[in-house]
Parts: sequence; C-alpha cells; structure tokens
Amino acid sequence: MVQGRGWEGAVLRLLRARDFEFTVTRAEDVTPHYRRLRLTDGGMLAATGVHPTMWVRLWFDNAGRPHQRAYTLVDPDPAAGTFGLEFALHEGCASDWARSAKPGDTIEATVQGTGFDRPDPDPSHLFVIGDPASLPAINSLLGALGSVGSQVPATIWFESGTEGLPFRTDPALHEVRHLSRGQLADRVRAQLPDLLKATPDPYVWITCDTTTTRALSSYVRRELGVRRERVHALGYWRAT
Ligand SMILES: Cc1cc2nc3c(=O)[nH]c(=O)nc-3n(C[C@H](O)[C@H](O)[C@H](O)COP(=O)(O)OP(=O)(O)OC[C@H]3O[C@@H](n4cnc5c(N)ncnc54)[C@H](O)[C@@H]3O)c2cc1C
Repeated sequence: MVQGRGWEGAVLRLLRARDFEFTVTRAEDVTPHYRRLRLTDGGMLAATGVHPTMWVRLWFDNAGRPHQRAYTLVDPDPAAGTFGLEFALHEGCASDWARSAKPGDTIEATVQGTGFDRPDPDPSHLFVIGDPASLPAINSLLGALGSVGSQVPATIWFESGTEGLPFRTDPALHEVRHLSRGQLADRVRAQLPDLLKATPDPYVWITCDTTTTRALSSYVRRELGVRRERVHALGYWRAT
C-alpha cells in the first residue's frame, strides 16, 4: 500500500515521515457512537518517542484508493509497544473501518506533523473547545498539564452528546459545558470574554470542526487579544 498512496504519500516521504503497521488486539464499544481499540505499535513508540496529544496518520482503504486520517494515541505504553485509539463514529471510511475492526486486523500508519509545546508559563486556567473527535486529545492535554505538580483548572465547551463518553476530567478542577451541535461558536463568544478577564495566564485549545476552529481561533487572537503562543488551534474534521 505504501507505493499506492498518491500525492499525499509522496509528500510525506519527502518530509521523511516514518511508516509503521499496527495490529488490533482488543476492541470495545464505549457507547453506540464511540469505539475504542487497543493495538500493538509495530515498533513505532520506540522509534518516535511519545508526547502528549500525539497523533498518527492512518491509511484506510476507500474503494481501492488510499484515504488518510489523523487519530490520537490513547495511553501509549512504549515499554509494551502498545497504545489505544478512540473513534467518534459517523459516516466515513475511518469510522467504517473502526466499526468492524477486530483482533488481528492491521492498519498502516505514518508519523509526521505531530508535536506538543507545553505552555510556559503553565496556564492559570485552560479554555478548551472540542467535541468527541478531540476527546482523546483533550484527555491527554488535561493529563499532561496536571502531571507536573500543577493542577490547572479548565473550562471545556464540548459539542454533541456526552453521555457515556470517557472524559478524564476532575469535577473539582474541570467544568464541562455540554452543547448541541452548532452552538460552540456562539457560546464561546458569549462566555469566554468575562472568563478571560479573571485569568492572568490563559491557554486556549481549539480542536473542533475546521470552520469553527478557524473562526474561534481568529476571534480569540484578534478580538480578545490572546497571544498566538497561548492559543493552539487545529481543525479536526471538515463538516460537509
Ligand atoms: C490531529 C488530529 C487528531 C484526531 N484524533 C481523532 C481521534 O482520536 N478520534 C476521532 O474520532 N477523530 C480524530 N480526529 C478526527 C478524524 O481524523 C476526522 O473525523 C476524520 O474526518 C474521520 O475520517 P472518516 O474517513 O471517518 O470521515 P470523512 O471521510 O473525513 O468524512 C465523512 C463524513 O463524516 C463527517 N465527519 C467527519 N468527521 C466527523 C466528526 N468527527 N464528527 C461528525 N462528522 C464527521 C464529514 O463531514 C463527512 O460528511 C483527529 C483529527 C486530527 C486533525
């Protein structure tokens, strides 16, 4: 399959991306719309190292054509060479693959583009805007910022049904504001300005659909004046 990845594969090869094959060892439905897999890493973690919110590019088959999508590692264990993946299920090749994935199934992956800059200084408050596709990254972020002796409070605007989703939030520190689809941009514009006034060192993490991510990233930086290095914004999926 490596040879048949079209222009995306060619660009990634030029960028010295590294390829691996993962094997599913376990699969479970966390909810009817959220599925968790455990996989062996084909030597990846030893070769690449690991960092919070780390993600990989997985290659799915789309009627014989390569279809590349990003997924976040859950609880990577370099010593064991294993990690998890959690799929928010919807239409699409990646979701289709995840729905039927079972122990023994394999998937090819490329590692390129992932990284994590720990905010310095640590945020006095974290503002997170996301949805089920970014829940693995949000959990990883909260874990990373809570892991070095500091306990960073967070406000999380989270779009779409949350029932049964595996949030790793601490109710004493993290407030999740549940929203229906389409409400993210308006709610954040209505609520974030006042919260920011009381926050000396904010850090804003925006990972939702590309249109909302772009709009809120520009709003937070240009209209609310949050410095670029205190905003992480990456569109996780394209609404059609
Ligand atoms: C860095 C990064 C890390 C990511 N990590 C994860 C992860 O750990 N878990 C995860 O579930 N997703 C994650 N995503 C998002 C995932 O890559 C996209 O949702 C991707 O589009 C899914 O591919 P697909 O083939 O299933 O659907 P596509 O072929 O891309 O889309 C098919 C249809 O489904 C719709 N769609 C796509 N994604 C979503 C969604 N999330 N919610 C609702 N509708 C959608 C599209 O609008 C389209 O109509 C991540 C994205 C990035 C950039």
